Amino acid sequence: MRPVMLITPPMVQFNTAYPAVPMLAAFLHRHGYDVAQADLSLALALRLFSPDGVHQIARALRRRFSTRRGPEAVRHFLAHQSRIEAAIPRVVALLQGASMDASTLATFDNLPQGSRFASMKGLWTDPDPETLARHKSSLFLDEIADAVRAGLDPHFELARYAEHLASPGDYPALARALRRRPTLIDRWIDDLAESTWRQHRPAVVGFSVPFPGALYAVFRVARRMKALDRKLVTILGGGYVNTELRDLTEPRVFSDFDFVTYDDGEIPLLRIVEHVIRRRPLSRLVRTRRRLRGQVVWHDDANAPVLRHRDRPAPDLSPLAVTGYLAMSESPNPMHRLWSERRWLKLALAHGCYWHRCAFCDTCLDYIKRYDPADAGTIVGWMETLMAQTGLSDFHFVDEAAPPALLGAVARAILARGLRVTWWTNIRFDLAITPALARLLVRSGGLAVTGGLECATDRLLALQNKGFDTKQATRAMAACARAGMLVHAYLMYGYPTQSVQETMDALDLIRQLFACGILHSAYWHRFALTVHSPAYHQADKLGIRLQTRPSAGFACNEVAFREEKAAYDPAAFGPGLRRATYNFMHGVGLKAEPTIWFEFPVPRPSLAKDFVKKLLCER
Ligand code: SF4
Repeated sequence: MRPVMLITPPMVQFNTAYPAVPMLAAFLHRHGYDVAQADLSLALALRLFSPDGVHQIARALRRRFSTRRGPEAVRHFLAHQSRIEAAIPRVVALLQGASMDASTLATFDNLPQGSRFASMKGLWTDPDPETLARHKSSLFLDEIADAVRAGLDPHFELARYAEHLASPGDYPALARALRRRPTLIDRWIDDLAESTWRQHRPAVVGFSVPFPGALYAVFRVARRMKALDRKLVTILGGGYVNTELRDLTEPRVFSDFDFVTYDDGEIPLLRIVEHVIRRRPLSRLVRTRRRLRGQVVWHDDANAPVLRHRDRPAPDLSPLAVTGYLAMSESPNPMHRLWSERRWLKLALAHGCYWHRCAFCDTCLDYIKRYDPADAGTIVGWMETLMAQTGLSDFHFVDEAAPPALLGAVARAILARGLRVTWWTNIRFDLAITPALARLLVRSGGLAVTGGLECATDRLLALQNKGFDTKQATRAMAACARAGMLVHAYLMYGYPTQSVQETMDALDLIRQLFACGILHSAYWHRFALTVHSPAYHQADKLGIRLQTRPSAGFACNEVAFREEKAAYDPAAFGPGLRRATYNFMHGVGLKAEPTIWFEFPVPRPSLAKDFVKKLLCER
């Protein structure tokens, strides 16, 4: 029987395996299928970061630029090509986890250093030579990617490729891009598609697209594979599809994909595989679209079972465990670099969010609204399986918001079984995060938590139905930080009705949290209104006028809106908010007035100067 192949397309982060494919593979194994897995995102990164990759980039750049012309990143790359080519195997080996002696580590001081190094000068204070060598190696790889982007392919980034074609999605633009003269990156993607197909010769290929930055490449890969085998059956699914392609009626998509599936992938994928390999009827398909006589049709077997989260097998990481993920370490901020600096084993404690009520969140969608936790014993069993498969013991619980009681139960189970692990996760900064719970989490290996503090003022947190206020959030963050965990906050600006004063008050709260040492990193997102959120249905309450819904049968998620009585222009505030927070993360400007980060007059914050300090003194 020819195998089923499951693929993560380029580009997503390549420090660790994205979990969807290993989860689906484990489920199909359980049902007796031979499954091959490929991470083409990692494969593309390793193609780029190889001596031959560097050589080909240089050749392509030289056709366009002389060493004295072109963008700075290109000039730097061409001026140091031979040193870059010579150093790259050592750099990749270090980031893949090779251990090196002190004299080899010292050679990383001699890597060619461009603008990324200059912008980091003086910020890195960790004296450990290996950590420093990893940091330099990461910047070195970033500068190679910068040269590609500046000189060859403006839409190439290390964690996304041609994202603009997917969000907001426009099928004609995507189709044109797929027909254009291929760039060097495109040719590498095509080569990887071909070599992967030749290696496995699958009957069915399932692609999981987690983010918009992997959509363009998934079409390239599927198209290339279908050109090699016109009987090949291709399936498209994943987080991007679940969110943005829910209204799909564009029939041309089905020239590259025979089936498009929605929400949890296991049962839809199994039913398609059973149809293709065991000739089961199409009427058994679940949450699946396909093309029939030029029209897109929907199948959903009403009698299909719902897979409970606790009934999932542990993901199958065994074929990916040895494939050399690259742990990048760009930021001197230890919380900020946590995302990419280790090969995290990803697991979810629960399906969905136990709160599922925030006004800006996609709470209409299954992956948020259907809360279905596993039990602690099952979760720790999955952890043990992954540790045995990979030899690793660092976990990222990728929950939308990890439920506090279950986190506590998992921590107790980890301690009871004597597992030596580390982990981090996303939480809500709510009342249930107490000092006692935080201490238990740290004893079980908890390193860090992330959570949404959103617009960070009480009126807006209430309007957003966040379920906690700034005092409660501060106490939860303090509990985690004082127990020894790093804390990251997701922040939001530009929410309808938000005023300039509220924005400045939010920034001052963030400054105080950093200054008191209970917040270690943060990131501001501009509010985006999505069709799957409660806010989309609250136009009157929020005083906004919706612009046209952006669907022509393809992608539809974010909706443009106009605020009828706009208090300020959020776009003007983004740079100042980000500049301030970047500096706070590096310990700079914590005592200064937050007004200094803006290039135009802004009001002084009205938040009490000792708001956070006072809360921390509470008994
Ligand atoms: S924003 Fe987070 S906490 Fe709120 S509903 Fe969404 S997942 Fe849950």
